[in-house]
Amino acid sequence: MSQPHPLSVWAQNVSPSPTLAIDAKAKAMMAAGEDVCSFAAGEPDFDTPEFIKEAAIAALKSGKTKYAPTPGIEPLRAAIAERYAAEYGYQITPAQVVVSPGGKFSCFLGLQSVCNPGDEVLIPAPYWVSYPEMVKLCGGKPVYLNTSDRTGFKISPAQLEAAITPKSKVLIFNTPSNPTGGVYDRAEIEALMAVCLKHNLYILSDEMYEHLIYDGKQPTCIATLSSELAARTITVAGFSKSYSMTGWRMGTLVARPDIAKAAAELQSQMSSNCTTFAQYGALAALKEKDKARESLGAMKVAFDRRRKAMHAGLNRIPGITCLLAEGAFYLFPNISSFRIGSQEFCAKLLEQEKVAAVPGSAFGVDGYLRLSYATSDDTIARGLERLARFCAALKN
Ligand code: PLP
Repeated sequence: MSQPHPLSVWAQNVSPSPTLAIDAKAKAMMAAGEDVCSFAAGEPDFDTPEFIKEAAIAALKSGKTKYAPTPGIEPLRAAIAERYAAEYGYQITPAQVVVSPGGKFSCFLGLQSVCNPGDEVLIPAPYWVSYPEMVKLCGGKPVYLNTSDRTGFKISPAQLEAAITPKSKVLIFNTPSNPTGGVYDRAEIEALMAVCLKHNLYILSDEMYEHLIYDGKQPTCIATLSSELAARTITVAGFSKSYSMTGWRMGTLVARPDIAKAAAELQSQMSSNCTTFAQYGALAALKEKDKARESLGAMKVAFDRRRKAMHAGLNRIPGITCLLAEGAFYLFPNISSFRIGSQEFCAKLLEQEKVAAVPGSAFGVDGYLRLSYATSDDTIARGLERLARFCAALKN
């Protein structure tokens, strides 16, 4: 009997998510009774607001337990269209909206809708870990645009232009950014989008953290900048970060009607509708605006306070420098002065001081760490003390 065939090239080539792996390891250590300070989480440490849970429970009890239309229940798609009009003046129809099982899946559907094998997809680095893997799963080729803290982790129009070839198809753009927390200004986005239009690129605009922006800055919804951009932009967002609903698996995709239709058809063969009764929870999040504003406001106040505390604490540690990011719930300090790779830095930090952080290398740039401040003030204070001790020992 011959050996069974090897696994597919997709299965062999995909890298598992390093952020989920580190978070899982930190959680396992905590469950085993170890006193870990974890800065690895990619999710708010707040519970889903009660009114959202209650709406989902009521839907469950009233029998919303069957298949629903693949792109989402009608009232939810309508509410998503309404919220884009209210927040950004973006006029779309419900037919342009797809509700998917998570922002991650929305990104994948967006890429699957426009990316052919052999197409090049431009990805600013540091990048969210899933982008390159998703591009490869579409048969595309990721092309990285490297940045550093010297430019605030932002790409320039000239840099974008220089990376474009006749095979370039899509720019993946993520602001506020995971992992840096960086936020592009509207003028900076306009300059980059002019290059995208000149070269007829699609833009996969990952606006997952649109509501988590500090210092009075406002988010930019790229599709609203011009009708040409609306025709080329696939907007990804969701409920995970704004409403503390990471486990619910609810993402959104908004695009030109034919792209949205294609994404829904792809979803119809890959996952069908997002959990039916969960969609009623999401509907409550959009409909009960005062309650939603209150819970988001409370979360933002806490994140902003922790952001400032963590930023100040990091910059007090000799050898570390850190920009004050304006969005999401991450800081991305520079640790290159310690002259060890970020992976080794994080492995030793977890082993010696029980502090969990994600190495910059996981996001395509070495010499940095990603620290999430979606954790308690006390964990931040204690974790920074340990990090300072660890850094002092490394310097000696
Ligand atoms: N995009 C970015 C930049 C993210 O950080 C995340 C989650 O961490 C997602 C998309 C996906 O979110 P979801 O949990 O809804 O799949």
